[in-house]
Formats: sequence, structure tokens, C-alpha cells
Amino acid sequence: MTLDENVEAREIIQKFALLNALRYGGKAQSKPVLGKLLGECPHLRGNIIEVTGLIDEVVQEVNRLSLEKQRKLVEEKWPEVLVSEKVEIERVLPPLPNAEKYRRVVTRFSPNPDFVLHLGSARAIILSYEYAKMYNGQFFLRFEDTDPKTKKPKLHFYDSIREDLAWLGCKWDAEFIQSDRLKIYYEYAEKILKDGHAYVCTCKRQDFQEKVRVKQQCPCRDLTSKENLLRWKGMLNGTYGEGEAVVRVKTDLDHPNPAVRDWPALRIIDTEKYPHPRVGSKYRVWPLYNFACGVDDHLMGVTHVIRGKEHLTNQARQEYMYRHFGWKYPEAIHYGRLKITGASLSKSVILQGLRDGLFKHWDDSRLATLPALRRRGITPEAIHHLIIDVGPKTADVVLSWENLYAYNRKIIDPAANRYFFVRDPTKLTVKNIPHAFTAQLPLHPDHPERGFRSYKIEPEKGEASFLVSSDDTGLLKIGGKVRFMGLFNLQVEKVGKILIQAFFHSESYEEAKKLGAPLIHWIPMNSGIPCEVVMPDASTANGVAEEACKTLSPNEIIQFERFGFVRIDKVNKKLTVYFAHR
Ligand SMILES: [Zn+2]
Repeated sequence: MTLDENVEAREIIQKFALLNALRYGGKAQSKPVLGKLLGECPHLRGNIIEVTGLIDEVVQEVNRLSLEKQRKLVEEKWPEVLVSEKVEIERVLPPLPNAEKYRRVVTRFSPNPDFVLHLGSARAIILSYEYAKMYNGQFFLRFEDTDPKTKKPKLHFYDSIREDLAWLGCKWDAEFIQSDRLKIYYEYAEKILKDGHAYVCTCKRQDFQEKVRVKQQCPCRDLTSKENLLRWKGMLNGTYGEGEAVVRVKTDLDHPNPAVRDWPALRIIDTEKYPHPRVGSKYRVWPLYNFACGVDDHLMGVTHVIRGKEHLTNQARQEYMYRHFGWKYPEAIHYGRLKITGASLSKSVILQGLRDGLFKHWDDSRLATLPALRRRGITPEAIHHLIIDVGPKTADVVLSWENLYAYNRKIIDPAANRYFFVRDPTKLTVKNIPHAFTAQLPLHPDHPERGFRSYKIEPEKGEASFLVSSDDTGLLKIGGKVRFMGLFNLQVEKVGKILIQAFFHSESYEEAKKLGAPLIHWIPMNSGIPCEVVMPDASTANGVAEEACKTLSPNEIIQFERFGFVRIDKVNKKLTVYFAHR
């Protein structure tokens, strides 16, 4: 590099290092800075060693500054960057503990495919994914499906979970299924038994529990590893039946939490009776959660486990096993509970509701499951923003639907085109219309470039009929004046049960403003498409959507003016849409 090039590169590096630092709580990292620099100045690829040295130097300088000073420098030197980066900088996750100690950050999301994902799962997914991305690390998906009896996995949930992750935009770098890995767990079970850090307990469960409750050991704890391995063989070959033998990991019998004392690691399940949906009756010994999860986190190189604080006891259990194997336990981040008022995130409550017929399906609009949110037009971006803003804090968080809607509205409002939907229609006839009118209704008020919906009103003997919503009958009183949005102003003459009659009043919007005439929406009589709106309480609103809605496609999110945002679900002879929010 020439001296000039060096000065120039240093300047650009400083900019990227500062931005990186601002995003990650004041500590910049060299690697992303290098990526950005080479993106902007590809010619520097030839000087990579020199450039890397320069970056390390500048990053160190930047990291010595306070966050405040860093921000001030960017504001002074590159205010324009701060504007475009602002959104991202506001959504900052706190740095991961000890991220720099690892060559590569690895996180995972590890669901049991026995249930649908919901907003609570989205937190584990998005935090794990975003942290991996933040550190240029890797994010794994691991199906924890080793309980074919009480938490029996279902085949379709493997796919629905993959679909939900893809929808959330959380691409996983590798996928593992624990029911494919039984041989691996057997290998480690054998090892821990051989090393004397675990034993095969054949006591009755209750007898064992009574003993450990008073910090006493069961007789099996003193078996030699030879005896244990013999029993282990018996577990595998069918000498023992379900419930007759269990591998226990030795912990501390004085541990304050009895649930941690010599916890069960592998047990027998009668898979002739309870076949596994993927591997049938091939295996009879199955690892329990802590054993499979603990072994996998180590073998897969997971560096940061991000999960709810209900897992704290599991960490205490697994740490014993890690010590026995001589492994280092990953960094663990335990966040608090997330509640959304008015929606149950509890598996048992949702399952009960489905059994009782209270909910029709997993995507019933009353639920906060991901399929339900997707169906209603809640965007993955909104969920990302919400989860990142909530972050991994340990305090419990209570949200309302309205919080989620506010995030979603920000995203869909600029994108959603506008249409008319007349709920519960009433006929309204306007007389004295002086000539034909063509209403040009913008698809979006802020985006004229998107074009218009156009409706021509050709009065017959000065008369034309329309559909208006019964919701507006309060505005349609005798002598009252209203403006048909984008068309003309009218004065109500007669209000009948099935027909409202009105006179043409004037044309201009200015006139309507002068008259104080409220704006209402309308649809020309004998046009449009019948429309059913599924509301958040699972009730339906019925009416007619304007003619232009016939060309909409499923998954589009639009706004029915004066009604709310909806997602198109089905379009055939009838339009079916799901209500998102106002
Ligand atoms: Zn025992």
C-alpha cells in the first residue's frame, strides 16, 4: 500500500469499526470489519496481510473509546451512516458472555417435535439465530425426539417446525435428529458407566426417591463398573423390561435440589407398545432429555445455550455429567418468561382447547402459535423486532397483542395496498347525479406510483346504487351529509330498513371539508366479491370486497380502509381473509 492508500484505508476501517462497536455494545470485532472493507475496496484483497494488521490496530483503538465517544465520532464524521444504520443500532442485543474465547460461536434451537411452535419458541429461535449471525457463527436445528412414550413426537411437526423456522428467516446451518443418534448416546452411556460415574439402578422409582430425598444412596450406587456394564447389556438386550432399570448419573446426594441428585440418564421404553414415529421399535433404551442434550451440546460444539430460566435445574444436572467426561459446559443464558396477555403459550392449555373443540386447529386465530400468527398476517420481521427489543433479559416480560401489532403495523402499513370492504352491506341509492364519474382510488395514499383502482359510475336517469356498510348507518341520518371517498358528496334523504336514499350534493373534497361531511367507503351495486373476514376471536365478519380484490393472491397483506389490515387466505368465488389488526 502507498502512504495515501494507507491513510484512505485507515479512515474506512475506522468507520466500519466504530459502527461495529456501536452495534455490539462498544466492542468492535476485526472479522466483520474486514468483510465490510473488502466489500467497499475490493482492490485491497491483494494486501490482505497488511490490511488485517491495520484493522487489528484500528479496532483496538476504537475499543479503547467509551461507547459515548464512539457514537460522537460517528456523528461528527459520518452522520449519514448513522441515519441508515439507526434502525439496526437501536435493536442491539447485549453481547454474549465470553464470545471472544471461542473460535466460533455456535448456538442451537432444539425442539421436541411433539408440538407446534409459538411466540415463546420464537424467542429461543430468534435469539439463538441472531446471536450466531452477530458473531459470524453457526446456528443448528436439533430435533430432540427421544421420548416415544410420554412426549411422543409426531412426523408432521418435524416439517412444520422447519417451515416455521424458514418463515422466520432463521436459516439453520446444520440439522440433527436425536433419534438418529442412539448409538452415540449408547457409546457415552457405556463410557460413563465404565468410568464409574454412573450406575444402572434397578430399584423401584419410589424406593429410590424416598432414599435420595433424605440424601441416602440406593444399593446400586456401589456396584462395580463391571456389574454396571452387565446390567447395561441387560437393558439393551431385553433382560429388563420398561421401568425395571435406569442409568443414573452420579451427582451430589447432598445437593440442595433433590431433583439434581443422581438424575436418570437413560431408560427403557417398550417400543413394541410405543413405537417411535421415525425408528419404530428398533431401540428399547432411550436417553432422557439431559443426557441426550448434554452429550449433543458438547459433540456439536455448542458454545452458547440460550433458553428459558426453567432450564436452570437442567444446567445443574448436566454440569455433573460434563465434569465426569472432562468437558467444559457451554456458556448458558437463561431468559425470563414471556407472556402475552389474552393468549396462552402453554402447551397443555392449547392441547386441551384443541381436544375440547374450542380451537379448530393449530392456526386458530386466537392462538399465538407461529402458524396462527402467519395466517393473520403478522410478519416475521415484526416478530424479530419484538424479540430483539425484549432481548434475553432474565426478568419476566408481559406483552399485549397490541405491542405485537404496533411492530407489525410499522412494517405492513407502507407495503399494504388499500381496498374497500363493506361489512354487512346496505343498499344506498343516490339521485340527481349530474353526469358520469370515474373514481380513481390510489392503491396507497403515499405511493401514487403504485397506481389506482378505478370505478366508473354511470347514472341512469341521474341515479346510481351502491353498497355501504351497516357500520356507517350511524353517519347516514336524514339530512346528514357524507362524502363517498374519492367520488362525491351526498345528502341523505330517506333511511329505510333495506334502502337508504340520498341526493347528490357536490363533487369536491374541499366542499366535504367545508360541510364537515365524514368520509365513508362504498362499492358500486352489483360489483365486488363476497368476502369473509376471520377475526382474532375466531368470529367472522361478512360482506363484500371491491371488484379489484378479485385479482389479489393468497398471502398478500392489504388494508381494508376504515376496517383494518388483513391477509388474503383464499380467493375463489368468495374471498377469505384473516384480520391482523387495525
Ligand atoms: Zn438403585
